[in-house]
Amino acid sequence: MSSKKLRQRSCIACRRLDTREGLIRTVLIDNVVVVDLHQRMSGRGAWLHPNCFAVATERKAFNHAFKFEGEIKTKELADYLNGLGK
Ligand SMILES: [Zn+2]
Repeated sequence: MSSKKLRQRSCIACRRLDTREGLIRTVLIDNVVVVDLHQRMSGRGAWLHPNCFAVATERKAFNHAFKFEGEIKTKELADYLNGLGK
């Protein structure tokens, strides 16, 4: 029985559960959302689907996920997603 395989995360934008492979992990450093490429950076992580970025921004999902009030910069994440060709 592999419970690891079944472990799922929910997307901060659409709230759907998905596996780590289907989601991008991000962490907040100061007020900048940084992509955690290897999914092992410390701190609170926020997971989202690559194509849920616009919704996440619209709903201020990063503020909720990180319990952060104020402006959160997502340019780095946006650039990363653009690089994926989405
Ligand atoms: Zn999603």
